Amino acid sequence: MKILVSSCLLGENVRYDGENSSIALGSSFTFKQKELFMDILCSNEIYSFCPEVFSGLETPREAAEIVNSNKPFIVQTKEKVNLTINFLIGAKGALDLCKEEGIKVALLKSKSPSCGNEKIYDGTFSKNLIDGQGLTAKLLSENEIKIFNEEQLKELFIHIN
Ligand code: SF4
Repeated sequence: MKILVSSCLLGENVRYDGENSSIALGSSFTFKQKELFMDILCSNEIYSFCPEVFSGLETPREAAEIVNSNKPFIVQTKEKVNLTINFLIGAKGALDLCKEEGIKVALLKSKSPSCGNEKIYDGTFSKNLIDGQGLTAKLLSENEIKIFNEEQLKELFIHIN
């Protein structure tokens, strides 16, 4: 099966801080999670994608949060630099790739203002999480692409098998 995967989960240094969120090498994941992740990688067609890099943002870059998650969306940095257009370009890029390739499933990094599928930071830059989706996750799910995050590998495995 074709699966869109957040590039940072695959170990690519595309995060805002220049680091990655590698599942395979990260110390916060158990051996079982890593084993399951590698099984998923080896048994499926993986499409690595980072919406923020795709949108033209540099790495490293200032962290951004969604301050208005309803239309009109507003995504900005702590210094109030408005990056909404970049985040929308990234979301559209992900959707275009999914449509072109017939991708119906995505494994996206949790809590990100682009990729988060259940929780996002509340826009105050104080590490408070609220229910909500990043702009890429939101657009993909509105287009019937099923999204899982890195804590939902078992659910992803069941879904694709
Ligand atoms: S935009 Fe998504 S893929 Fe890119 S660094 Fe953030 S969480 Fe990872």
